[in-house]
Amino acid sequence: MKEFDFDLIVIGAGSAGVRASRMASNMGKRVAVVESRYLGGTCVNVGCVPKKLFVYASEFTQYAHEANSYGLNYELKEFDWITLRNNKTKEIERLNGIYKNLLDNSGATTLWGHGKLNDRHTVSVAGKQYTAEKILLATGGWPATLGIPGEDLAINSNDFFYLESFPKTAIIVGSGYIAVEFSGILNGLGCEVKIASRSGKLLRGFDESTRIIAEREILKKGINLIAEPPRSIEKSGDKFLVTFNSGRTEETDLVINTTGRTPNIKDLGINELNIELNPNNTIKVNGQFETSVAGIYAMGDLIDTPQLTPVALAEAMTFLHQQYEGSNETLVYSDIPTAVFSQPSLATVGLTEEQAIKQGVNIAIFESEFKALRLTLTESTERTYMKLVVDSDSDKVIGAHMVGEHAGEILQGIAIAIKAGATKAVFDSTIGIHPSSAEEFVTMRTARA
Ligand code: FAD
Repeated sequence: MKEFDFDLIVIGAGSAGVRASRMASNMGKRVAVVESRYLGGTCVNVGCVPKKLFVYASEFTQYAHEANSYGLNYELKEFDWITLRNNKTKEIERLNGIYKNLLDNSGATTLWGHGKLNDRHTVSVAGKQYTAEKILLATGGWPATLGIPGEDLAINSNDFFYLESFPKTAIIVGSGYIAVEFSGILNGLGCEVKIASRSGKLLRGFDESTRIIAEREILKKGINLIAEPPRSIEKSGDKFLVTFNSGRTEETDLVINTTGRTPNIKDLGINELNIELNPNNTIKVNGQFETSVAGIYAMGDLIDTPQLTPVALAEAMTFLHQQYEGSNETLVYSDIPTAVFSQPSLATVGLTEEQAIKQGVNIAIFESEFKALRLTLTESTERTYMKLVVDSDSDKVIGAHMVGEHAGEILQGIAIAIKAGATKAVFDSTIGIHPSSAEEFVTMRTARA
């Protein structure tokens, strides 16, 4: 048998790549991981983690305002963007160090540079060739471009985390979770924000009644919606002039493009090896994450599965069990909980009402809308919304959706119940935690008529 330099070469040290390489190494495999930019990938450097830190920052202003009703007067004197940005970057660098230690301590070799497939056993990095029995592609995604004149004047989600100065006004193009989260961050920190959405709707694809309430609450915070896409961007002094499809123009300090991400396959050797792609340019894989070329595997944002860090981690673990522990099990992609860290936040697990109807399930809907106790002393008009989708035939809860404070924290627990197949009767017999918002999930007794 031919000797290879490594048992496994992983290209990309992001969520999937770090997990796969360090765990494979811990299993006694000889592993190299190739990284061109930063350890930890999108999530750690320009995604989940820095975004959540910015969300925390933006929530303080609202808390400070609401504190007045509790007899505490906080006067917000100034917001120092540079302090927030640099403290965030310091924390990210600390995490980069932790990822480096995890990889080093596992015994995996980190190869710095752009990785490219030469053949099905060879990867080139920084002018050198390395061979492996198996190659795993985990190169993630990259922000898409706008495709309009002046698109280079818009920043992308990566740039947002390293802005030189904080804008007074901003236009965010897009209507998905990144657009909504960034708008909440900017708005909370004092920037006047407009979201330009082609459909005029935010967060399409989420459960519709939940989405509508989330959109209403988000816009109540003072974020404006422009219901059309931009057709060009021009420089106008030290500002930008955005012209929309209808001819409407807006001047702004900053344009942020959040209109999707494309798989990172540039110069990866995909075409040369004839690795098959899906119509959306993600890499086609089977249940073992194997591409159309035997011995080459792909996972994470590079394949056509939900683009979330916990999914990438689960894919890495499933791959390792399959390859090195003889498991025949494939990853189940149903009941994946997820949250949008908007203000208020939205979280969801299981089927939406629309999906359940489409699947022909006979459903009962339980829902509740109320003002959270914490806000009752304040002038806030924010409403919390919770919804359960129940299969009327089996009584199983097949979907849970929420808009409100701590939605992500609450839905993580509900996701366990749904995964375990809990019925509505089990929810009903569960004692609530009082007083809390979460208890509403076990006290909804009357189905929507
Ligand atoms: P990545 O983490 O992107 O890692 C890919 C790595 O490969 C990168 O380090 C890259 O530099 C490297 N690379 C690329 N090409 C090469 C090459 N040819 N050679 C060498 N190295 C290469 N997910 C959540 O679950 N929760 C969230 O709250 C959340 N928020 C997000 C917010 C934003 C703004 C964004 C953009 C994403 C967010 N995500 C979130 C999604 C999450 O970040 C991704 O799903 C996850 O990072 C995908 O992991 P991955 O391993 O597939 O790719």
